[in-house]
Amino acid sequence: MAKKRVCGACTACCKTHGVSEIKKLPGYLCAHCTIGTGCNIYKSRPQSCKDFQCDWLKGFGRKGQRPDKTGVVLDFVIGEVLRELFQMWEAIEGALGRRFTKIITRDILEANIFVAHLYLSGKRVLFIPRGKILHADTRKQLVEEGVEISSSFRF
Ligand code: SF4
Ligand code: SF4
Repeated sequence: MAKKRVCGACTACCKTHGVSEIKKLPGYLCAHCTIGTGCNIYKSRPQSCKDFQCDWLKGFGRKGQRPDKTGVVLDFVIGEVLRELFQMWEAIEGALGRRFTKIITRDILEANIFVAHLYLSGKRVLFIPRGKILHADTRKQLVEEGVEISSSFRF
């Protein structure tokens, strides 16, 4: 059986993700984080920090592709609107343009799952797989929220 993965020195999601309990915004390093060491309030960290597990931690991808190495935090979510959505959060500027990101994006789209690229700049792009249609109301709402929508992913 494969060895259980651990975060180790990775703190990528402490930058990419928002933490509502402490009003931490996405894309900014948490004030309680020391890069390469971890959380300074580990024992009393918010519940959402305790709950969060990126997909690398759950076993997706190769062992050496830990998010602090690839610069991308992978986060598959099930929601009411899009149902299955594979989120790719940029932890290191430029990482969403890397080959690693492109290969995963292509493969997930081929599996007929929506993919979102979430940049440190705040830019958000939703890629629609070929076999899915985005309802007009959903599209309108996303565009109003500033999400860019793309039906074609260029590898
Ligand atoms: S991005 Fe994944 S591996 Fe890195 S600290 Fe967060 S949960 Fe752990
Ligand atoms: S509270 Fe701790 S675990 Fe949560 S984002 Fe901040 S540094 Fe990371």
